[in-house]
Amino acid sequence: MATVTLENVHKAYGEVKIIKGVDLHIDDRDFCVFVGPSGCGKSTLLRMIAGLEEITSGDLLIDGKRSNDIPPAERGLAMVFQSYALYPHMTVRDNMAFALRLAGVSRQERYGKVDAAAKVLQLDKLLDRKPKELSGGQRQRVAIGRAIVRQPKVFLFDEPLSNLDAALRVQMRIELARLHDVLNATMIYVTHDQIEAMTLADKIVVLQAGVIEQAGSPLELYHHPRNLFVAGFIGSPKMNFLDATVSAAAGDGATVTLPGGGRVTVPVQPGHVKVGDKVTLGVRPEHLVPSAEGEIRGEVQVVERLGGETFLYTQVDGGPSIVVQADGESPVRTHERVAVKLNAATCHLFDSAGLAIERAQRHPLADMRRPTTTRMAS
Ligand code: ADP
Ligand code: MG
Repeated sequence: MATVTLENVHKAYGEVKIIKGVDLHIDDRDFCVFVGPSGCGKSTLLRMIAGLEEITSGDLLIDGKRSNDIPPAERGLAMVFQSYALYPHMTVRDNMAFALRLAGVSRQERYGKVDAAAKVLQLDKLLDRKPKELSGGQRQRVAIGRAIVRQPKVFLFDEPLSNLDAALRVQMRIELARLHDVLNATMIYVTHDQIEAMTLADKIVVLQAGVIEQAGSPLELYHHPRNLFVAGFIGSPKMNFLDATVSAAAGDGATVTLPGGGRVTVPVQPGHVKVGDKVTLGVRPEHLVPSAEGEIRGEVQVVERLGGETFLYTQVDGGPSIVVQADGESPVRTHERVAVKLNAATCHLFDSAGLAIERAQRHPLADMRRPTTTRMAS
């Protein structure tokens, strides 16, 4: 299969700069996911890799070979879009075989490849149907099948599940993970759905306004976000942010004073902050625990009961509104006063420029790689 490398890649339309110097290496057989807010340049970056957009400056290397000027059809890539655009008058079999027919592949070989792909995608019983006789999820599988039969070095997906309803998205997401395992292919996947990003990716690339804010494994981004943007983007519901002031800085970390006067000592590396510094404390809803002796106090304004868990939207005394994830059995009600306990090991600190202050220790799962046993098999 293939590696993909971007070196100082820029894209401009006239004066308007869209991609502003992207450096990225994607390993062979990695599942790499581009995430970021709408308009940040995800599709543009993917289309430049595909050869559908010219690269204004910088280099694209596929398997180490500069590929900026190689025509799209010769790059060995296959792209799957949000709109599947199947030929309505053709059967599933002929839709999937179409690119091979254009390439002059014999009928027998074409149909052999289609049959194999259809098995992987569980489309084997639907090959004689027309697209209008398929559900949305089945159509999207045909679109993926069209890519598979070409045996590309790299699969490129641009929000392929966005048109599907929620239940189908979950099902297709799991199928995509399985497909990646079976095909042993390098995949680059654009989404704005961070659950898809967290669950599918070996490497997540968080983009904002044409620059990479951070690239790393899902749990690296979750446990060690580099800045406030990534911290707020990865995780759902979002990380809570509280203004805080450094009240002591010693070997075991930085002690900060929170709105309402509560204090917590966050285990960050020494030497990055001093007493009096204004910082931001970040803590995820799932790491907050309602308890009698909490460092944060406030009034609950909205209670969302999801059955398995309860979200408490809480107005902190002298501070912002935060979300606390309590368990499903929580008896707390709207307008009740609550105290919330912090676990220092799950708190994040950001300096006045919004950059994370490095933690004293790496999280044990942050550098974990997916097992390679099945991936090495073929
Ligand atoms: P994303 O996929 O992250 O939502 P896109 O890559 O589609 O974002 O677009 C990034 C930015 O580039 C947007 O601001 C968009 O308006 C702009 N853009 C995309 N295509 C063109 C074009 N052909 N001409 C000018 N601007 C464009
Ligand atoms: Mg897009």
